[in-house]
Amino acid sequence: MNIGQEVLELLKEEITQQSYDRYIKQLTYDTKKSSSDLAIFYAPNALICNWIKSKYKEKLEHLFEVKIGSKVSVKITLKTSTERKIKKITEQKIQHSLLNPSHIFDNFMVGGSNQFAYTAVKSVSEKSGKNYNPLFIYGGVGLGKTHLMQAAGNVLQNQGKNVIYTTSEQFLNDFLRHVRNQTMENFKDKYRKCDVLLIDDIQFLSNKDVIQEEFFHTFEALKNENKQIILTADKHPKKIGGLEKRLQSRFEWGLVADIQSPELETKILIIKKKCEINKVVLTNDIINYIATVIESNVREIEGILSKLHAYSQLMHIDIDLEFTKNILKDQLLEKQKDLTLDIITKIVSKDLNIKPTEIRSKGRSKNLVYARRIAIYLCRDLTQSTMPQLALYFGMKDHTAISHTLRKINLLIKDDEDFKVKIDELTNKVTNV
Ligand code: ADP
Ligand code: MG
Repeated sequence: MNIGQEVLELLKEEITQQSYDRYIKQLTYDTKKSSSDLAIFYAPNALICNWIKSKYKEKLEHLFEVKIGSKVSVKITLKTSTERKIKKITEQKIQHSLLNPSHIFDNFMVGGSNQFAYTAVKSVSEKSGKNYNPLFIYGGVGLGKTHLMQAAGNVLQNQGKNVIYTTSEQFLNDFLRHVRNQTMENFKDKYRKCDVLLIDDIQFLSNKDVIQEEFFHTFEALKNENKQIILTADKHPKKIGGLEKRLQSRFEWGLVADIQSPELETKILIIKKKCEINKVVLTNDIINYIATVIESNVREIEGILSKLHAYSQLMHIDIDLEFTKNILKDQLLEKQKDLTLDIITKIVSKDLNIKPTEIRSKGRSKNLVYARRIAIYLCRDLTQSTMPQLALYFGMKDHTAISHTLRKINLLIKDDEDFKVKIDELTNKVTNV
C-alpha cells in the first residue's frame, strides 16, 4: 500500500461508508508525481473532483501531516481522459438528422402551456394543407417548437409525403449556394414541389430582404396548391420586425399558436417521459426537485438528465437526491459565471419597478432601501464580487457598510416571511435568465 492509499484508509475511518464508496474510493494516488510535500490524487470526473476538493482536501492534508509529521499539500485533479469520455456520452445523445425520429407526438407531453399548439399541429398532421395553412408556432427557447413541428413532419413523411424540414438559416444558405452555382431552377424545384415545408426559426430571416423575396414566392407556390407549411419563431409574426409586410400578413393567414413555459405538472410529466426514453431511473423526490429548480427550458432539463445518467454510469452508482443536488449545483454555478451586477440589478429593478440608477443611488426612501437590500444580497450570493466591489457598485461608503447591510438582510430573512419569499422568488428569476 502506498502512502496515499494509507491516508485514504485513515480517512475511511472518519467518514460514512457511503461517502467513502461514492467519492474517496474513486481517487487514485500518483506515486510518481507526488513528493514529500505534495500529494497528487486523480479523480475520475469533475463532479467528484470538486466535491472532494471542497469537502475533504483539508482533512486529507491534516491526515498526511499526522502520518508523516510534516506539512503536505494535497492536489486533487482530473484524469483528462475521463472528461473526454463524459463529453462523448453526453454528445452521443445529440443526433443530427433531418427529421429526428424521436420527435413524435407520443413523446410530447401536453399541459396548459402547450395544449393549443399541440392540438393545432396534431390537426395539421391529420389533414395537411386543409386546416390551418400556414401554421405558425411561436415561443421561447427549448419549449418544444421544433419537436412539435417535426412530430407533424414524421407523421406526414410516414404517409409517403415529401416533407422538407429546414431551419431558415439553412434555407438561406441553400439559396446562396444555388445562386452561386447558378442552379436556382433546382432550388425552386426542390422547395416548391414538396408536399410539406417545415421552416424552423423563421425570425432569422428578419432584415434579409433577398431571401424574404425568395421565400415569399416559395410560400405562394405551395399555398396555392394547398401544400402544408409550418413555421416556427421565437415571437409572434407582428413582433418579429424587419419582415416584409406581405410576409408578415401571410404568416397570420392560417393559425398562430403560442407555446408558454411548462407548468410544474407538465415539467414533471416531461421529466418522467425523458427518463423512460433514456432508461434513467429517478425517484419522485428527485423528479420534483429537478422540476422546481429548472424554470422552463426543457432542453436544460434534458441536459441534466443526460449528465446524471453519464455520471451514474461512470461511477456505477444509483442516482439519489444528494447526488442530483450536486450535479445541479454545478450546472447553476456554470450559469452564474455569466451573471453580472448589472444583470441582477436590472432584474430586481424591473421586478420592483424602480430604476437601476435609483437602486444604486444614495436615496433613503423605504422602497429604495428595500430594493437595494435585495439587490445587494443577490449580488453577494450569486456572484463572486467582494464587499469592496459591492460598496463601489452600490455607492456605499466602504465594505463595512455592505457587511452591515448583509447582516441586516440576514436578520430580515429569518424574521420576515414576506421578505424571504421575495428573495427566493428573485433568486429564481435571476438564476433562470
Ligand atoms: P424549441 O425548438 O422550442 O427551442 P425543442 O423542440 O428543440 O425546443 O425542445 C427542446 C427539447 O425539449 C427537445 O428535446 C424536446 O424533445 C423537449 N421537449 C420540449 N417540450 C417537450 C414536451 N412538452 N414534452 C416532451 N419533450 C419536450
Ligand atoms: Mg427549435
